Amino acid sequence: MSSKTWTEEELKKASESLEGKAPEEAIKWVAANFDVKDFSLACSFGPEDVALVHMLTGIKPDARVFYLDTDLLFKESHDVKEKLIKKYGIKPERYGAKTTLDEMAKEHGAELWKREPDKCCDIRKMIPLATALSTLKAWITGIRRDQAPTRANAPVVSWDAKFKLVKINPLVRWTSDDVWNYIRKNDIPYNVLHDKNYPSIGCEPCTKQVMPGEDPRSGRWAGFQKTECGLHK
Ligand code: SF4
Repeated sequence: MSSKTWTEEELKKASESLEGKAPEEAIKWVAANFDVKDFSLACSFGPEDVALVHMLTGIKPDARVFYLDTDLLFKESHDVKEKLIKKYGIKPERYGAKTTLDEMAKEHGAELWKREPDKCCDIRKMIPLATALSTLKAWITGIRRDQAPTRANAPVVSWDAKFKLVKINPLVRWTSDDVWNYIRKNDIPYNVLHDKNYPSIGCEPCTKQVMPGEDPRSGRWAGFQKTECGLHK
C-alpha cells in the first residue's frame, strides 16, 4: 500500500470522486491508501487545522500531526496545541529553523521579518516544511478555496510538484462559517485570539488585528504585498 506510486491521472480521478463528498471522506481515502507513518496533518493551530485534528483523530487516532515552530508563534498558539494534545492524544511533531533568532539576527540583521519577510519565511518556515515533508508520502492541509485567489482552484487531492508528495485538502469546499459551525458543534479547542479580531494567525510580528469588514487575511504581513508564506503556492 505505502509503496504505490500515484499517477497524476489516478489522483485526478480520486479528487473528482471526493469533490462532492464530506471532508471526512477525503481523510478516509488517505487512511485507506497510505500507511499511517507515511502521511501527516500540517497543523498551524488555526480554525481549519483544529477542525481537521478532530476529524482525523476520529478516523485514525494514531495519525501523525506536525507543526512549524518559527520561535515567533503566539503563546496562545502554543496554548491551543496543549489543549489538542490533552483532548485528542495527538503528539505534534515540531519542525523548526536550524538557526536561532539570535543567529539569524547576527547573519541578516535584527528583525529580518520587517525588511525581508520572504527570506525570514524561507528560513523559519519553508526549509523546516521541506524537512517535514521529506519524511512523508502524503500531507493533509486545511486550505479552503475562498481564503485567497491563489487557493480558488485547489483540488481535494493532487500531486504536490513542489514538495513531491500527494497533497490532500479535505476542507476546500468549506466556508469560514462551515469551519466555525463545526468547531462549536464539536466543542473543539481553538486559539482564543480569534475572539479578539485575529481571524488569521501566524507569527507574532507579522500578524495584526483585523477590523470588521476588512479582508480576514489583511492582518498578515500588513504593509507588504505578501499574502502567503509559500507553503501552498
Ligand atoms: S511570518 Fe513573519 S516572522 Fe514568521 S517566518 Fe514569516 S516573515 Fe518570519
